[in-house]
Amino acid sequence: MTDIKLKLSEIFYSLQGESSYSGLPCIFIRFAECNLNCNYCDTRYAHDIREQLSLAEIFGIIKEYPCKLVELTGGEPVLQDNILPLMELLHSHGYQILLETNGSLFLGDIPSHVIKIIDVKTPGSGEGDSFMKWNLRCLEPHDELKFVLTSFYDYKFALDFIKENKLESSKILFSPLTNVLSPRLLAGWMLKDGLHARLQLQLHKLISIQ
Ligand code: SF4
Repeated sequence: MTDIKLKLSEIFYSLQGESSYSGLPCIFIRFAECNLNCNYCDTRYAHDIREQLSLAEIFGIIKEYPCKLVELTGGEPVLQDNILPLMELLHSHGYQILLETNGSLFLGDIPSHVIKIIDVKTPGSGEGDSFMKWNLRCLEPHDELKFVLTSFYDYKFALDFIKENKLESSKILFSPLTNVLSPRLLAGWMLKDGLHARLQLQLHKLISIQ
C-alpha cells in the first residue's frame, strides 16, 4: 500500500441523507478544499485542510465501522490528486463507493464501479456556469444528477438542462434549498409536469444528525 497523503476535513459514520441511498448507514470521507464558492455552501469549513492522511491511515479508520458503503465528499473530492488509488483500495476490499462531486471537474477517469452523484449547479448557486458538460458522456446507468433548487427559475433551468441533454431516463434528484424553497411548492411543480425525478430532502438535517 503506497503512502500517499490525502487532504481531509473529516471522516465520520452516519445515515446517508441524500440520493437514492438516503437512509442507509454510510461512512463519509470528507475531503478538504473546493474550487467553487456556492452562495449557500453548508460545508464551508471543509474548504480548509484539517489533516493529511495516507491511504493506509484512512483505511485503518474506516475499517472499524460496521459498514460497507462509503461516500467520498467534500469540499470537492476530485481535486485530490490521489483519489483514484483510494477508490481502488476501497473497491478491492468490497466497499460500495459513492462520489459526491460538484460536476465542474473532469470525471472521465473515475472507475465505472463508482456511483457518481453529480451536482449540476443552478443559477441560484452563484456557480451556474460551472458544469463540465463533457461529463455527461461518462454517465453510468447507476449515476445520479442532482439539482439544488432555490427558486422556480432554477426549476425551469433544470427542466431545460434535462431536455436539452436528453437526460429524461437518467436518475435525477431535485433538492429544494432548505428554508429557501418550499418542498411542497416544488412537489406541486413536479407533479404538474409529470417529471420523472426524485424530490429529496436532506434526511440528516431533518433528524438533526451530522
Ligand atoms: S461545490 Fe459544494 S463544497 Fe464547494 S462551495 Fe459549492 S456547496 Fe460548497
